[in-house]
Amino acid sequence: MKQLSVHSRRRAEFIKLDAEVGKAIEESGVQEGMCHVYVPHTTAGVTINEGADPAVVEDILARLEYLVPHGARYVHAEGNADSHIKASLIGASALVPIAGGRPALGSWQSIFFCEFDGPRHRQVLVKVMEG
Ligand code: ZN
Repeated sequence: MKQLSVHSRRRAEFIKLDAEVGKAIEESGVQEGMCHVYVPHTTAGVTINEGADPAVVEDILARLEYLVPHGARYVHAEGNADSHIKASLIGASALVPIAGGRPALGSWQSIFFCEFDGPRHRQVLVKVMEG
């Protein structure tokens, strides 16, 4: 298991993990298998989506904010209920196939850490499995 450190700078943002995940796979020496990327937090997530055009991430963040506004009324009194809901909508993990010692991502795909209650120091756990 490899532990990555992520430092978010805004309350809500997506941070690309492609380079770090690629490095974790390379270091493992695994050529064929699966890579599990997991976020052990309740107000952050991980997703795979378009990394080429930053407008896509901008649209996802704007739509999530529209659907689950920060300032709306919630029961959770900590002031970050929207962050918890957004994190659950996105999910806490992603599974990436490994082919030829590299993540088998499509041309336009990137792996993103999704911050919903930043800025914070976060951890991402990466487990590379052969098979
Ligand atoms: Zn909370």
